[in-house]
Amino acid sequence: MIEVRDLVKVFDARGHEVRAVDNVSTKVARGEVLVVIGPSGSGKSTFLRCLNGLEQLDSGSVSIDGLDLANPKTDVNAYRREVGMVFQHFNLFPHMTVLENLCLAQKVVRKRGKAEREAKARALLAKVGIAQKADEYPSRLSGGQQQRVAIARALCMEPKVMLFDEPTSALDPEMVGEVLDVMKQLALEGMTMVCVTHEMGFAREVADRVLFFDHGKLLEDAPPAQFFTQPQDPRAQAFLKQVL
Ligand code: ADP
Ligand code: MG
Repeated sequence: MIEVRDLVKVFDARGHEVRAVDNVSTKVARGEVLVVIGPSGSGKSTFLRCLNGLEQLDSGSVSIDGLDLANPKTDVNAYRREVGMVFQHFNLFPHMTVLENLCLAQKVVRKRGKAEREAKARALLAKVGIAQKADEYPSRLSGGQQQRVAIARALCMEPKVMLFDEPTSALDPEMVGEVLDVMKQLALEGMTMVCVTHEMGFAREVADRVLFFDHGKLLEDAPPAQFFTQPQDPRAQAFLKQVL
């Protein structure tokens, strides 16, 4: 479903180069769930943004279901339609109701009629357990509810892949579980997912593979049972000692 080959993304940080993603290659099969972990600044968000076509690649390639981002002939908007993304800070439109948040891209991008997009929106709100909040504004919802709205909004576009960038990091602890439960359900239904998260329980339970990044390099790519019990790289070993 996803193929990343020799991906490099360099930033210019006040005159010196930061190799935010440094020659990363990996593949994600349809229905696979990847959890990406690593210290702050290790390139996790940049990696996700490259998968979503939000960053210009410096070299290498990224493709989703055969659509190659590095190919100048690829329509980046068409590519991005296939990818749903959920951020730490929800990024809901504050001046729109929950229902309107879920309908906007369906209208503009998918050109769906009102009845169809509202039916889709309501079905997905029910799926994430907040059907009764359709007509509320986001500010009236808890953080956990807002994040579930953000997930439902992404799902309205029927993406082939869902990317999550620390979806529970901004939440009060008592709301983390409800968001992880929605993600777990999606995984069980066969969604292809790449999740940056510090939730090691989720990684152990749900991930097919864990990817460990440090300084832009992909240092480990292993099933959780292997990664958590016998990480190969010394930096992965040190990281796990801190977080477990
Ligand atoms: P993580 O998500 O693992 O914390 P990031 O992908 O956000 O890491 O950042 C990786 C590196 O790239 C860091 O050194 C960060 O400072 C740098 N970086 C990220 N985005 C930019 C940017 N837009 N401009 C300059 N440097 C950036
Ligand atoms: Mg990040």
